[in-house]
Amino acid sequence: PHPVPETGAAVKAADRAHVFHSWSAQELIDPLAVAGAQGSYFWDYDGNRYLDFTSGLVYTNIGYQHPKVVAAIQEQAARMTTFAPAFAVEARSEAARLIAERTPGDLDRIFFTNGGADAVEHAVRMARLHTGRPKVLSAYRSYHGGTQQAVNLTGDPRRWPSDSGTAGVVHFWAPYLYRSRFYAETEEQECARALEHLETTIAFEGPATVAAIVLETIPGTAGIMVPPSGYLAGVRALCDTYGIVFVLDEVMAGFGRTGEWFAADLFDVVPDLMTFAKGVNSGYVPLGGVAISPAVAETFARRPYPGGLTYSGHPLACAAAVATIRAMDEEGVVAHAARLGAEVVGPALRELAGRHPSVGEVRGTGMFWAVELVRDRETREPLVPYNASGEAAAPTAAFAAAAKAHGVWPFVNMNRTHVVPPCNITEPELKEGLAALDAALTAADEYTV
Ligand code: PLP
Repeated sequence: PHPVPETGAAVKAADRAHVFHSWSAQELIDPLAVAGAQGSYFWDYDGNRYLDFTSGLVYTNIGYQHPKVVAAIQEQAARMTTFAPAFAVEARSEAARLIAERTPGDLDRIFFTNGGADAVEHAVRMARLHTGRPKVLSAYRSYHGGTQQAVNLTGDPRRWPSDSGTAGVVHFWAPYLYRSRFYAETEEQECARALEHLETTIAFEGPATVAAIVLETIPGTAGIMVPPSGYLAGVRALCDTYGIVFVLDEVMAGFGRTGEWFAADLFDVVPDLMTFAKGVNSGYVPLGGVAISPAVAETFARRPYPGGLTYSGHPLACAAAVATIRAMDEEGVVAHAARLGAEVVGPALRELAGRHPSVGEVRGTGMFWAVELVRDRETREPLVPYNASGEAAAPTAAFAAAAKAHGVWPFVNMNRTHVVPPCNITEPELKEGLAALDAALTAADEYTV
């Protein structure tokens, strides 16, 4: 590819004139015009190439332009580009079979959606109809999507402008030892106290009013807080005791991200419903869904499920999922992510934490890691205040600019950077990115006390 700067300028001009961007003040953004992408890299029209440490929005789990998936999309387009959801279609049937074979436990029926938020919407609708109960519990420090129910489940500031106050959501605190809400000093205390807090919340809300508990298996955008062992099993037990549907949101954590097919596999826990999207086909064509247990499916065996989408199980998206899952199997992508996480990222980040005063904590698994940036390691004061923007966010902006100057496109959220490259990134590429991170952290160190 020979990107031409004039083309880049035209792409940028049309974007600025006509594209309305997500989550943004339209006049305050400056989107990079991207000329191309391949594997773990993308490049602009001026000859700058970046190693993508974000996997897009944590979804290109097999990188850009994987030839097997591109070919499968082309073949499906030539054969049957689209077909309505009420019919049995080969690509859809095969995608559902391959996904159901990999989802935890007895989850074996798949409802396809266009992405993650609508998967969450439908999981909640199924849970409410299955139980006949109105309310849903979800965690602070979570993200579940941008549609009305999903954003109301979300436990971060993106909810506030759209908080309906009538979404039937009650928020609780999940485990996060580094900033414990429970004055815990050990993982065991954090686990036990978080479960006690959740059970008390259920008791005071009234168990017979709670349809579902919705949790990210490992919270993603909110900070990759790997739960203590025993926590999710404890939530499963509470759901069983009180007849509550357990929904795990694996939109970000699923499909190899954590070094397992699903993060639930790390904890040997089986939810009643599990949402997925993103990595299911590396985001090449929009696709998400809900994996459904036999008990919930039974509710809709002889009574219609009141929900659907024009593009449910779109053949192009499903063909991309089939090719992605097969490629991940053939190329051992899930085991590769587990190994690189344990042998390369974990040790490298712990070593950086020892040298950079701006690093408060590192945590994660597989290709799913967070670096918590602080002003003061003693007090754990975040490098930027919660929900900072503009001048207040200068320290993380300086970090991001330094990373880009060293050729890495970093994921930055609040006071954290996440290391979330494609799960099939090569070891040399990963080491190159970690070295750039090392250099960029020096910019963050400038803002420590
Ligand atoms: N759930 C989780 C855990 C996510 O990380 C996201 C997106 O980042 C969503 C749901 C929403 O998915 P989508 O943007 O495809 O609607």
